[in-house]
Amino acid sequence: MKSFNYYCPTKIEMGTGKTMELPEMLNSLGIGSSILLVSDPGVIRAGLIDPIQTRLESSGYRVSIFDSLAPNPRDTDCITGAAQFNDIKAEAVVAIGGGSAMDTGKAIALCGPNGGTPADYVDGRREYTNIAPIICVPTTAGTGSEVTRSSVITEAATHRKMTLKHALLRPALAVLDPELTYSVPASVTAATGVDALVHAIEGYTCKITNPISQALGASAMQTIVSALPIAYKDGQNEEARYAMLKGSLLAGLCFGSADVAAVHCLAEALGGLYDTPHGVANSVFLPYVLRFNSTENRPMHAKIARYMRFAKDSDSDDIAIEKLINGVTAFTENLNIPKLKDLPGVQKKDFPRIVELAMQNGSTPSNVRTVTADDYL
Ligand code: NAD
Repeated sequence: MKSFNYYCPTKIEMGTGKTMELPEMLNSLGIGSSILLVSDPGVIRAGLIDPIQTRLESSGYRVSIFDSLAPNPRDTDCITGAAQFNDIKAEAVVAIGGGSAMDTGKAIALCGPNGGTPADYVDGRREYTNIAPIICVPTTAGTGSEVTRSSVITEAATHRKMTLKHALLRPALAVLDPELTYSVPASVTAATGVDALVHAIEGYTCKITNPISQALGASAMQTIVSALPIAYKDGQNEEARYAMLKGSLLAGLCFGSADVAAVHCLAEALGGLYDTPHGVANSVFLPYVLRFNSTENRPMHAKIARYMRFAKDSDSDDIAIEKLINGVTAFTENLNIPKLKDLPGVQKKDFPRIVELAMQNGSTPSNVRTVTADDYL
């Protein structure tokens, strides 16, 4: 008997200017006084935090800012942020930024009230419980972290990129305001957009997908493939920015109740070892994993080629799959995303370590085609 489940309790508010309604939204969640606002220096430099902080403070909220984090956020920063959360007796975490700020915010909301380090939760030494309310405001159109149960944190001492995963890590509220993404530089727009595309592809194709995730993933793929080239060329294009933020949300809702797979497992290994931007790391592996995976469930792979309009309805499955791999390769080339050989620091002698980390990743078993260490290599 077939069965599936789908779960996402996050309240979603999307619209231009929506962040100015944050005080009323927090109030309706019963959050009334002190909040830790988690962001990063790039987002602050872009001028996105000042108006929101002013609006919150003028509505009576005490706001303390934690911004000591960088892309591929470290466990050490989460621990510092958790101490600040406790010092100010925060009631909730409002994370405003890309995946790095949102994931750090989630880890702080966990480690603040409960103590310990992110690794304690990943390795089962502590339980996911008593997590402070999490409010996420994405400023990139990429990770979908605003609706997922995950927080991806790198253990500084070992370079292990860990995924904290629990239903209670889903934000109570996601506020999506496309205006906050207009300042994203073109290269970050490209990389984060491809990350969202990979979420849709892997959420759709993985072994533990479900019909709701597939419906969301199909819509996300269509949206992202048509909007990303426009948002990349013209960051001020309101329609393309709206579409990308919507596309990354749908992709987050797709994989958030399914999983990611081999592309992400390799990408996270690369990110942990070399600090490669997450979207770039996904992009370099995508065509190769698609070629490997497409021997499994060929009709499904042909279908996603048609969703993304790389193939026509009239193409045979074999032709559609070839067009999928060529289409995805050209798509990322046109966004000027570097290739593996162009990435700083990456060395062939490290490949066995990359493989080892990818094999340890909990999402490897979800890949549509069973993948071994030799396959990864
Ligand atoms: P990011 O958050 O690391 O941001 C990249 C850069 O863009 C930063 O320098 C940041 O300051 C800047 N930036 C962000 N928004 C900006 C804006 N509006 N204007 C100007 N600059 C801006 O990038 P990301 O790709 O959004 O997040 C990547 C992280 O998210 C990785 O650690 C990845 O592993 C993780 N991730 C998490 C999930 C999840 O479900 N939790 C899913 C996918 C990826």
